[in-house]
Amino acid sequence: MMPDAEVLVIGGGPAGAVCALALSRLGRDVVLCEAAAFPRDHIGICLSPGVISQLDFLGVQHILDHSAHQIGLPIERRWESTSFTPTPIKALLVDRGQFDSDMLAMATANRVRVLQPAMVLSFSRAAEGWVADVGTSTGIRQVRAAFLVDARGRSSGHRDRRRRGTPTVAVHGEWQGEVRRAVRISAADASWTWAAPTGRRKRVAVAFTNPGLLRRMKGSLDERYRSLLEDADAIEPGLELATPPRVCDATPYIAEGDQDGLLRIGDADAALDPLSSSGVQAAIQSALCAGPVINTLLTESADHAAANEYWSYRRISRSETHQTWASHRYAEAYAARRTSFWHSRATASSTATSSSATNPPLPSPGQVLRMSEKVTFVEAPCLVDNLVVRVKSLMHPNIGEPVAYFDGVSLGPMMRALSAGIAASEVVSLWSQSGSPEKAMALLGWCWQHEIAVAV
Ligand SMILES: Cc1cc2nc3c(=O)[nH]c(=O)nc-3n(C[C@H](O)[C@H](O)[C@H](O)COP(=O)(O)OP(=O)(O)OC[C@H]3O[C@@H](n4cnc5c(N)ncnc54)[C@H](O)[C@@H]3O)c2cc1C
Repeated sequence: MMPDAEVLVIGGGPAGAVCALALSRLGRDVVLCEAAAFPRDHIGICLSPGVISQLDFLGVQHILDHSAHQIGLPIERRWESTSFTPTPIKALLVDRGQFDSDMLAMATANRVRVLQPAMVLSFSRAAEGWVADVGTSTGIRQVRAAFLVDARGRSSGHRDRRRRGTPTVAVHGEWQGEVRRAVRISAADASWTWAAPTGRRKRVAVAFTNPGLLRRMKGSLDERYRSLLEDADAIEPGLELATPPRVCDATPYIAEGDQDGLLRIGDADAALDPLSSSGVQAAIQSALCAGPVINTLLTESADHAAANEYWSYRRISRSETHQTWASHRYAEAYAARRTSFWHSRATASSTATSSSATNPPLPSPGQVLRMSEKVTFVEAPCLVDNLVVRVKSLMHPNIGEPVAYFDGVSLGPMMRALSAGIAASEVVSLWSQSGSPEKAMALLGWCWQHEIAVAV
């Protein structure tokens, strides 16, 4: 039997919608199954600023213009200190029901065939790829596809996950009354809390703590939730709890175990520590990376090993870099509150390396430069024209990963100029021939900052 589609995407959250959209734009035939009827509620309403650039890149930034979203709300933080102070950063709060519906509508507008509500009940190997049993309003139907994308979020049936931080639960509820028009993030001795207005008289508050601590606290869930919020001074007096509090897991993890012809993306693959409010950004980033990887794996003549290597490196480094970032923020809170809650988070293991901290000014025009002896070149997987291919790439201990291009310019030929001693001004004029003087200056700055170009 002919497959129904080249790719079946399971889940229509931000990861699934963006991956389906990206693959369809690459000319792939995509079916997406989403279990819920939209709009539906979803936790995770504060978007990190990177989402704006991602939507811009996808050409769908207008999605944020909807009146249900709130842009530029002030943020007050009580973290290293004992009182709230305003931060220079402003918050972008979205109505996830609206946001996710609009993202999925973008996929539909780009020829993705969306089945909804349609829950994938099971999937298994078939001769041409995969066959999935899908529960729809008219009964169970089968969908066949050459490639499967698991974008089911935290609820993904995949059980093989490695924890990337301290076990964490979130207790969340909605409050009513005269709410302050600001996001509040506050640390207490054994929890931290995030609260934000979701309407004119509505405020959502999420308390994060250890599952063991929550179990040992006395009283009903309602009482324990109120006590956590009191510790964090997160809810102003006079507000009333409008919904019974709910508990969900918020532990960061990464999935393990690869399967040919299947990729997990978004939270189905790796969930980040909720502290950064960047789960949606990471889900979209994972989907944008998966598009060309799947495109490569579906191209018979392409380098499949390079595609798998590219995917594996990116998903692991995304998770590690974020865990390192979160540990540093927890260490700031630990400095003010020396409790085991903060200590375990501040020291959560991570193997991520940070790039060179030194940031010297540009070399003077007469400074003679050469390429550092620590520079090596490797054939590393790289994205070229929506396919993953191996490209000669520069490696140096200060840059962490192989780099093939700088602002679109291939680094291999550029580095030849530095093989013998050469003045900085001459390097800039040579490199300007392959781009603009501004690009050449930027490349020199990058090489100098990372000690790829060193003084003779
Ligand atoms: C307590 C908490 C607070 C958070 N706060 C933030 C925040 O402020 N900002 C932020 O950016 N992130 C936050 N996050 C993370 C964020 O919610 C997720 O990272 C993001 O939603 C992941 O997107 P996704 O598309 O991978 O998964 P999801 O958004 O979960 O989408 C998965 C979709 O798959 C569908 N699905 C599931 N099973 C099936 C099936 N069998 N068949 C068909 N469809 C199926 C579901 O209905 C759902 O629509 C938070 C997470 C937690 C736990």
